[in-house]
Amino acid sequence: SEKPTALIMIFGATGDLAKRKLFPSLYRLYKRGKLSERYAVIGVARRELTNDAFQESVRSSVQDAIKDHDGLDEFISHFYYHSHDVTDSSSYLALKTMANQLDENYHLEGNRIFYLAMAPEFFGTIAEHLKSDGLTDVAGFKRLVIEKPFGRSLASAKVLNDQLRQAFSEDEVYRIDHYLGKEMVQNIEVIRFANAIFEPLWNNRYISNIQVTSSEVLGVEERGRYYEKSGALRDMVQNHMLQMVALLAMEPPIRLNTDEIRAEKVKVFRAMKPLEGDAVKENFVRGQYGRGLVNNEEVKGYREEPMVDAESNTETYVAGKLTIDNFRWAGVPFYIRTGKKMAAKSTKIVIQFKDIPMNLYYQTEKTLNPNLLVIHIQPEEGITLYLNAQKTGEHMDATPVKLNFSNNCIDHMNTPEAYERLLYDCMRGDATNFAHWDEVALSWSFVDKISEIWEGTKADNFPNYEANTMGPKEADELLERDGFFWWPVD
Ligand code: NAD
Repeated sequence: SEKPTALIMIFGATGDLAKRKLFPSLYRLYKRGKLSERYAVIGVARRELTNDAFQESVRSSVQDAIKDHDGLDEFISHFYYHSHDVTDSSSYLALKTMANQLDENYHLEGNRIFYLAMAPEFFGTIAEHLKSDGLTDVAGFKRLVIEKPFGRSLASAKVLNDQLRQAFSEDEVYRIDHYLGKEMVQNIEVIRFANAIFEPLWNNRYISNIQVTSSEVLGVEERGRYYEKSGALRDMVQNHMLQMVALLAMEPPIRLNTDEIRAEKVKVFRAMKPLEGDAVKENFVRGQYGRGLVNNEEVKGYREEPMVDAESNTETYVAGKLTIDNFRWAGVPFYIRTGKKMAAKSTKIVIQFKDIPMNLYYQTEKTLNPNLLVIHIQPEEGITLYLNAQKTGEHMDATPVKLNFSNNCIDHMNTPEAYERLLYDCMRGDATNFAHWDEVALSWSFVDKISEIWEGTKADNFPNYEANTMGPKEADELLERDGFFWWPVD
């Protein structure tokens, strides 16, 4: 396999993301032999730290995440630290000297990855300085990896993008959507395009509706300050939920390469019917959690959480009905829902097939269950196909049976592995599983119309769902109106 060589510069190296995801992921790549011996990492953050102290923090983050950690001494010996306030112009030259030195010592061929794991308000400044102070003048490749959120509206995303694009071309910008690094999200493509039994049915003649759920049991925890300005629509729908919809709805690409796949995804966003005025209310539901019982103990409502306004209008839950206006999907609703403090932690896709033309198994007065294909994304990873078959010993009776394929995973291993895959892709220069600007722009313009209305009108029914439930009743009504219901996620 390819073993990319690069200098990886992590901005925000003392932060939560670096600790929980980036260091353990790099270590896993190292352990699997996917990292060449020629790599070096510069951690950049404001705090004063020696190289040794930084290496120890990398060590403990790996130890916290991974049980078996041999070779750790060698692994962390490639880590260096630069204390640096990203708003201080004079500091970039020292960083450049350090980078050039490591480039030489480790024979890194002038390949550089700049990973921005810090607050987005700094992204623009950093990119500008990287260019103006010559850190991007390299003989090899230069790539910029940036975390969500990518703006908070189309307008702010444009401003950010223009700043980045002064220093990096679109090809060099890797916008992380960590859902795209998940095993089973990547599997959507394989399930669809590598099986004769699904793709021929993957359209409005055979599918009645598609449901995408991403529910969390956690509340806003310590992130109230950020979340108040974001909400579930921006935090989850604009990126992760719409990305999953695009993968489910896209046409088969001519080839499985970055440009072809992204081009097909972009077409889905373009076919998504924009919602305006009353259509927002008819097709989208917002929710906010109130108090509720978890293990017989009352837990706080969102408005009582730290750093949250006591009359907050921020949604912690969104359910919506998407319409994709093209030949394949006309008439097939795509329902999405996501929220915090829900009854189950689950990311799941349910594809519900249409009923067969006539039920021959009416003797027992049972309606036949529809065929379902369920893609389990997390915490379980796998697929389940629901069929009807005759039960042993019973005559001519159709009963639901489940065909199960399980990737059997442990949840805490899950997310770092998404980062591991994405980091590796970035090192190899494969941008397929990162969001292209066109996708980001189109999904913001869809979401902006909804957030403008939600921000302009106070939700007078907030809080409208109890903690530890599956969301407000309006979300159930959204499907009931169409004759459907949310399939249970657990
Ligand atoms: P954090 O607050 O834990 O860490 C921020 C880092 O930035 C620290 O290392 C800090 O020293 C550094 N920093 C802050 N101001 C600086 C300055 N002026 N100069 C130099 N360094 C400075 O944040 P985090 O949770 O690690 O998140 C980082 C980014 O990743 C954010 O954009 C966040 O939205 C995104 N993100 C985080 C997670 C997560 O799980 N933590 C998940 C998805 C996206």
